[in-house]
Amino acid sequence: MFESLSNRLSSVFDRLRGRGALSETDVLEAMREVRLALLEADVALPVVKDFVTKVRDRAVGVEVLRAVSPGQQVIKIVNDVLIEQLGGEGAVPLNINVPAPVPVLMVGLQGSGKTTTAGKIALMLRTKERKRVLLASLDTQRPAAQLQLAQLAERAEVSSLPIVQGQTPVQIATRAMDAGRREGFDIVILDTAGRLSIDEELMDEVKAIRAATNPAETLLVVDAMTGQDAVNTARAFNEALGVTGIVMTRMDGDARGGAALSMRAITGAPIKLTGSGEKLDAMEPFHPERIASRILGMGDIVSLVEKAAETIDREEAEKLAVKMAKGKFDLEDYASQLKQIGKMGSISGILGMLPGMGKIKEQLNGANLDTKILKRQAAIISSMTVAERRDPDIIKASRKKRIAAGCGMTVQEVNQLLKQFEQMSTMMKRMNKLGQKGMMRGGLG
Ligand code: GDP
Repeated sequence: MFESLSNRLSSVFDRLRGRGALSETDVLEAMREVRLALLEADVALPVVKDFVTKVRDRAVGVEVLRAVSPGQQVIKIVNDVLIEQLGGEGAVPLNINVPAPVPVLMVGLQGSGKTTTAGKIALMLRTKERKRVLLASLDTQRPAAQLQLAQLAERAEVSSLPIVQGQTPVQIATRAMDAGRREGFDIVILDTAGRLSIDEELMDEVKAIRAATNPAETLLVVDAMTGQDAVNTARAFNEALGVTGIVMTRMDGDARGGAALSMRAITGAPIKLTGSGEKLDAMEPFHPERIASRILGMGDIVSLVEKAAETIDREEAEKLAVKMAKGKFDLEDYASQLKQIGKMGSISGILGMLPGMGKIKEQLNGANLDTKILKRQAAIISSMTVAERRDPDIIKASRKKRIAAGCGMTVQEVNQLLKQFEQMSTMMKRMNKLGQKGMMRGGLG
């Protein structure tokens, strides 16, 4: 099953536990699993091949972090490449920052959810961007479609263009833009007629509409549940029209999400929005990282990320322990400790690595540091210059004022932080001495 990709990979690598770096043979074996899983998830073959090559190139020779297995390490790389291929971490917003009225053209096959999506976008732009939206149906063949859009407009509390019998789609589009200009609309959403399959007549019609209105966005709506077919649709529309963005509907279904990966690779157009239900507010910006998790199997990735983070924490903690032992702990280190807010185990964890500090550790734990204070302290430190963090002694009155102003806190709070840091340093130095004594006696802790 697809969901078990992470498990499958882990088992391939289980016997490799403990090796330093990922070898080419190890990676190739894992890639067989990745390839299969992607194909099962409806990713197009050329895209799979390309993807596997990218992961392989990235994975071979990579050092395996201590706290994770090589399999997990590969999954992490697969996850990273998935996110990249899906368009990076952030969602791409609609391009509506052009002079009003902004024409937005909706295209797609019948039943893809195009009309519903037009209504969803209208609602989103009205409520989130405070835009005045006009919806216009250019579907002259299905009076029901025009009526459907008018009803959606009502539900979304936006205007819809009055229906005039006997007009061609281009005439309606032109009338919509005129109305948009005359009546001061910000956005005019043009909902074109769908077809059951792609035909030339449909494409010609859309091309004519586009020529007449010059849309800022040509949004293609595709049904995620149709998998590979959705990708073929996207390719055809893109080749004929050049779409500027894709909306994938029915992501609330159990579509694997593989189509999203192919879609992006084959059309080059970003997936901008995803539909997740029939209701008008069931639409979200496209989040590549969520789709990646879906392709890989959600829970596994979450735990993987946690594991990887633990490793980083631990490695950092070990580095810090060395610094502390040398009496070189500065405010920068303190800030990186503060980052691990909520995991206050870290500081006592570091203490645990130093010899001869049992008592001080108790004292620190007893101090019961409040996470709110830690966050404020982190803000104060981020307002300091690097020089100040490395050498807090240079922080005199005028610098304190600047730091306080920079983070919106009082000089008193800056003083508090510096005092606490000083106490901590003193404690560490003491602890350090104790430790050395302890070592001389030959005992640890
Ligand atoms: P059009 O022919 O492309 O305009 O498709 P419609 O907008 O009429 O949608 C067809 C059906 O799909 C309707 O029943 C919609 O409520 C439903 N629909 C649209 N988007 C979604 C979605 O994201 N999730 C689900 N579950 N249903 C959707």
